[in-house]
Amino acid sequence: MNASLSGRKVAVFGLAKSGVAALRLLLQHGAKVTALDARSEDALGDVAKELHANGVTLVTGATPAGLLTRQDLVVVSPGVPLSLPELEVARTAGVPVWGEVELAWRVMELAPGGAPRFLGITGTNGKSTTTALTGELYARGGQRTFVGGNLGRPLAEAAMAPGDWDALVVELSSFQLEGIHELRPYGAALLNLTPDHLDRYANQGEYGSAKARIFMNQHASGDFAVVNADDAAVMTLAASARVPVYGFSVTGRPVVDAPALAGLAVMQDGGFRLEFSGEDFTLQNRALRGAHNVQNAMAATLLARLGGVSRDAVQAGLDGYPGLPHRLESVRVLDGVEWVNDSKATNVDSVLVALKAFTGDVWLIAGGKGKGAPYAPMVEAGHGKVKGVLTLGQDADALARAYANEAPVHACGTLDAAVAKARSLAAAGDTVLLSPACASYDQFKNFEDRGDTFKRLVGAL
Ligand code: ADP
Repeated sequence: MNASLSGRKVAVFGLAKSGVAALRLLLQHGAKVTALDARSEDALGDVAKELHANGVTLVTGATPAGLLTRQDLVVVSPGVPLSLPELEVARTAGVPVWGEVELAWRVMELAPGGAPRFLGITGTNGKSTTTALTGELYARGGQRTFVGGNLGRPLAEAAMAPGDWDALVVELSSFQLEGIHELRPYGAALLNLTPDHLDRYANQGEYGSAKARIFMNQHASGDFAVVNADDAAVMTLAASARVPVYGFSVTGRPVVDAPALAGLAVMQDGGFRLEFSGEDFTLQNRALRGAHNVQNAMAATLLARLGGVSRDAVQAGLDGYPGLPHRLESVRVLDGVEWVNDSKATNVDSVLVALKAFTGDVWLIAGGKGKGAPYAPMVEAGHGKVKGVLTLGQDADALARAYANEAPVHACGTLDAAVAKARSLAAAGDTVLLSPACASYDQFKNFEDRGDTFKRLVGAL
């Protein structure tokens, strides 16, 4: 039991997965909890029942004036913008407003034995892959490893039993980083920074500042940072780190006016090398193909080696990493044709990195709910590789126009029809790649549903 929470009035704002996990943690520590959500009690379903059973006050709909200012603490789910007027009022009244990960951190920090080692991972792309892979490397190294955060299990679940873990490998979104105050990663990785979420941030500078918060509480003695040394925006933010900064580079030409690096990892034929220690690692795993995954693998390896995981355990983890579903996931090889599920590729940039990962001929299945970005870059990236395009969903015509002078386009309409058509067209040695460049909502629940449907159809061939 955490003395500083016992009997305290705490409001939890937002009752999605992370909010509910925070709430359970607060109850475990004896806090008097009020839960708020914009949704109705009916829409909250079982969550509402659990709250009532535990004596939690539930407030649905608009936040009553003055409710938050009467609290000792407000804990916010990552889906709730910290800029909401009622949160601003609470802060002005001196009520601390914490994100769910900050709450989890504070609880673990005060636990007997302190917080487990915290490895935090952020960036625009590759967070989930790098987090899952880093978790694999730490687990291979024999450490009791919690993998979660923005991916999978909320961090508050780890804080329910801090003594169970040696290492916490945590994916952190920029929204989660906005809500931290004292959370201190032992190892902090910033993978890349490209325009994203400009719906929630006024500009790119604000988005970058949110990401840079991952470094702000690190201690100069003992902690370390891992950054993409090829990414100028990342290197600018890394200048704020007060810890040894390790870089990784696939270009071999890291950004010049970078802060002096403590060490560099560089891509080489068949794998990569840690220049500062002279260690070579091979990367043969299909689940990690493509230059983008070499970046993810170098980041994960630096987080693991600098955290004391042995060289052999790291190599074994790189070889045995099973991959995450829907990200260049190899589904099946049938009559010499490989079928690959990259349903997570909901934008053009993701299709670019996917196409670069293949050398042979590719039949591309694409389309869905488009995001308005031009398709020309993916047409160019697939030049000489993409033998034909099988379209589906709302943006089929826009894709057909983009490929008009490049490759045959087959308007299939649905995923079923596209899989059947690809089966009739692809020859041994080819790849059939579902990498839609579009959101899935016009025909599926989400990208997972789309990828699962693809796997089922391919499995039935
Ligand atoms: P995130 O959790 O940040 O969304 P994922 O690991 O789920 O990242 O990968 C999402 C998509 O981003 C992948 O399908 C791939 O297209 C692309 N991607 C993955 N790693 C990188 C990287 N290091 N750089 C650029 N793009 C990447």
